[in-house]
Amino acid sequence: MLAARQLRSVKKFKLWKFISYMRCKCGAEAVYKLNQYKLAFCNSCYPRFYESLVARNIKKYKMILPNEKVLVCISGGKDSCATLSALKALGHNVEALHINLGIKNFSKICKRVVLEIAKILDVKLHVVELKDYGFTIDAVRRKKICSVCGTAKRYLMNKFAREHDFDVIATGHNSEDITIFGIKNIINQNAPWLASLKPRAESFDPKIVTKIKPLFERTEKENLYYVKALDLPYVKERCPYTPKNKWYADKITLATIAQSFARGLARPIQNAQKRNYCKMCGELTNREICAFCKAIKRYSL
Ligand code: SF4
Ligand code: ZN
Repeated sequence: MLAARQLRSVKKFKLWKFISYMRCKCGAEAVYKLNQYKLAFCNSCYPRFYESLVARNIKKYKMILPNEKVLVCISGGKDSCATLSALKALGHNVEALHINLGIKNFSKICKRVVLEIAKILDVKLHVVELKDYGFTIDAVRRKKICSVCGTAKRYLMNKFAREHDFDVIATGHNSEDITIFGIKNIINQNAPWLASLKPRAESFDPKIVTKIKPLFERTEKENLYYVKALDLPYVKERCPYTPKNKWYADKITLATIAQSFARGLARPIQNAQKRNYCKMCGELTNREICAFCKAIKRYSL
């Protein structure tokens, strides 16, 4: 008898949860359902909820200090578009930077979207052309094309931000990016890179600008829902060089994981000790010539 009553109340509870899951708290029909919060939102309530989560993280990790000028790096993808929109909506002093990488038709689409979103959000946009430095990503004929691309993006955004007096650089890294990158660097025992994964990675040299990741705890899905709810443009196409399988492309196998344990802690200590300025451009590097200058020499058009 008691068991039957309990069963009925469990069923009632589940039905109530199901009904509440179909409706936003404002009463409107829910469009976005987020399992991790057990909440659902309509188109107009979701952006405010998302921005409150971003604001909470910025405060918790002290990502942006009062009066800091923020340069948001925007590729045109949903994550960077969400970063720019959320920081602007939260009242931060932001400008945007887009790096045109020179990737077939893809870079043209990205630039078009970025120009559009900057106009919609009324944000000042700066565009840096990689070809002005002598090469494009299309000219990189090697397997690790993404590694050269990453070097170029990090180099150019840091140089631009420093030369234009920005206090911090914001990127659109989401929680999935950070998790994959973190695991890779734990396996490779790369302590300096792990330090760069903090929500606010403080400048450690006058040449390096502080970096922040306002979407540190946001998932791809949350970011996608945000740009969709606001009807913001974003690049839906994938870069033609996107690795088919990130783990395989980085050659992480059980053997490499085992080898990393065999190396012990030797690598991070060695890496942490090296710090030079590039003989060609003067930027920070741990070699004589930085990776960006090497890429210019190798892939010049
Ligand atoms: Fe650059 Fe690789 Fe990303 Fe394409 S997929 S934009 S080449 S990092
Ligand atoms: Zn250099």
